[in-house]
Amino acid sequence: MSANFVYLAYLVAAVLFILTLKGLSSPMTSRRGNMFGMIGMAIAVLTTLSLTHNVGLIVLAIMVGGTVGSVVARRVEMTQMPEMVAAMHSLVGLAAVLVAMAAFNNPVAYGIALPGEMLHSSNRIELFIGTFVGAITFTGSIIAFLKLSARLSGKPLRFAGQHWLNLGLGISMLGFGIAFFLSPSWTPFLIMTAIALLLGVLLIMPIGGADMPVVISMLNSYSGWAAAGIGFTLNNNMLIIAGSLVGSSGAILSYIMCRAMNRAFLNVILGGFGGGEAAAASDDGVQKTYRSGSADDAAFLMGNADSVIIVPGYGLAVARAQHAIKEMSNALTSKGVKVRYAIHPVAGRMPGHMNVLLAEAEVPYEQVVEMDEINNEFADTDVVLVIGANDVVNPAAKNDKSSPIYGMPILEVHKARTVLVVKRSMATGYAGLDNDLFYMDKTMMVFGDAKKVVEDVIKALA
Ligand code: NDP
Repeated sequence: MSANFVYLAYLVAAVLFILTLKGLSSPMTSRRGNMFGMIGMAIAVLTTLSLTHNVGLIVLAIMVGGTVGSVVARRVEMTQMPEMVAAMHSLVGLAAVLVAMAAFNNPVAYGIALPGEMLHSSNRIELFIGTFVGAITFTGSIIAFLKLSARLSGKPLRFAGQHWLNLGLGISMLGFGIAFFLSPSWTPFLIMTAIALLLGVLLIMPIGGADMPVVISMLNSYSGWAAAGIGFTLNNNMLIIAGSLVGSSGAILSYIMCRAMNRAFLNVILGGFGGGEAAAASDDGVQKTYRSGSADDAAFLMGNADSVIIVPGYGLAVARAQHAIKEMSNALTSKGVKVRYAIHPVAGRMPGHMNVLLAEAEVPYEQVVEMDEINNEFADTDVVLVIGANDVVNPAAKNDKSSPIYGMPILEVHKARTVLVVKRSMATGYAGLDNDLFYMDKTMMVFGDAKKVVEDVIKALA
């Protein structure tokens, strides 16, 4: 294939990747965005394959990886998606480290040195950056995967002198990187890689459950930069462009999420937030009281309301209640009730989690309203149905300065005339915090699995 054609094919793929990101910015265009991404990736992979000699081996690796990937992706539950994304990021990091090692082992084969010559200084810097970012991404993503899948506690793991230790390790990693730059040999390279692997663990361990969404998107960003770094080593423009797009979009998403949680990025990275103890009692130890009712009561209240806002959360995903909730809102709409859904940016366990579930149930987009837009409307709403959500409606974020989530924007459902909360118990949500919303006079708890409760409400409405 001529060099010009390769450049042209890579350019087309790059444009398609940019259109992918544009498409993914709205649920209405996300399917089209995904399609652009698939076509762009196919062009990029086929063009790169046309440049290589060991096509047979590469095709074999793609077939093995593709088979494992499709089996895992088909099996994974929607609620396990964030941990799967974390696991995938770890592989991108590992790939960056392995490619850097292979390139250092045989730089002539990779076209980055002539036989008998030393690696060029710019290549040494690229190898150093690609390796340490890849190694931190690899182990950091594994810890994020273990925390998200509850194989490790979501609580922040902290110890005295933690930040100093990390700083010391960071400086020594740089030191060995400089040693590698001055005289490229395996010893500084391997020590630097080992330190980076350890740093990945130490950086993610102290980060608590409630900050995990930011961590996932941050690791996503790192994996992109690692790929871009290796793109420089391999002299592959496509990898540089794709890696930079992943790196920058991940960084922008992390920033947007930090803003959505009112957290400073540095504060998230330094860790120690979330996963606190549960408490069903107030600060002075007095047991608080709450009111509970049945699905029939909930149906009566919603059936007689003018307007109902549904607030979905993680429990909706666990119960797979999205189709039932759509059926319930149809029943309410046919009775003349105005129904809308309020979406918090970090409801569920991954960005856009609730949008995906509601889209799967074919809830009309015009009924789905984002937090900033709907928050002004709660005060004029008759009934809010909070279904499987907890942290994202916790008023402590607005009025309790001592709360760890103070300052995080929430859906202000406590302003509505009546609040119905569907969940199985008084248990806490992801951040491990009690929720005063449940003890308000205007709140009625409806205990049970979200899907079962909604099905009972549908029966009662009929
Ligand atoms: P929460 O985790 O705060 O609360 C979910 C609630 O759902 C629980 O209190 C639970 O109570 C209830 N629940 C669980 N299963 C069921 C069921 N089958 N039927 C009915 N209820 C059920 O969820 P939110 O969506 O409000 O908040 C998301 C939290 O997750 C935030 O803290 C966010 O920071 C964090 N997070 C978000 C990510 C993202 O990107 N969106 C990623 C990772 C974390 P009970 O057990 O009593 O039923």
